[in-house]
Amino acid sequence: MKIQVHDKKFVPYIAEAQLQQRIKELAQQISHDLEGTRPLFVAILNGSFMFAADVFKNLTIEAEISFIKLASYKGTKSTGNVITAIGLEDDLYGRTVVILEDIVDTGKTLSQFLPQLEHQQPKKLLIASLLHKPEATTHHVPIDYLGFSVPNKFLLGYGLDYDGLGRNLPEIYQLEE
Ligand code: 5GP
Repeated sequence: MKIQVHDKKFVPYIAEAQLQQRIKELAQQISHDLEGTRPLFVAILNGSFMFAADVFKNLTIEAEISFIKLASYKGTKSTGNVITAIGLEDDLYGRTVVILEDIVDTGKTLSQFLPQLEHQQPKKLLIASLLHKPEATTHHVPIDYLGFSVPNKFLLGYGLDYDGLGRNLPEIYQLEE
């Protein structure tokens, strides 16, 4: 069924059952690959909160999780925009770290943020993203665990918002053309 959020109409794109099935598979794969490493999951708010909860619920290994927010501010002319992490208090040195992201679009945010994490010398730095828009990506991001590859259209629901609304929807919608 079509829905309206603010001034825009959205059509159903990924059903709740399909999301849950794929996330179960990802969590099983991660559990298999990272058994015995006690990984630290780092969920990037706000968009990834539902994805992070569902991945974490479905893990069958010991693991920790932290939630951070990324803020972008104007640096100097030479540094351009600077990304800082709010709430990252864990020591990543020697840890197996899995970033949980809702969607990689241009890839700009993560490609700017990853070097900051690498600086702390984790043993392994892996990325799990629910969605990826390959046609929109201008900055390469090495995604280790991907839910769905999607076309370059605006998506809503399951944590993703349109101007603050729609995050509560249990399925994903696409902007109607
Ligand atoms: P990037 O730096 O990869 O271009 O941006 C990633 C961020 O942009 C995501 O974490 C997400 O917050 C936002 N974003 C990208 N595409 C969409 C989309 O289709 N819908 C929504 N709601 N947010 C998006």
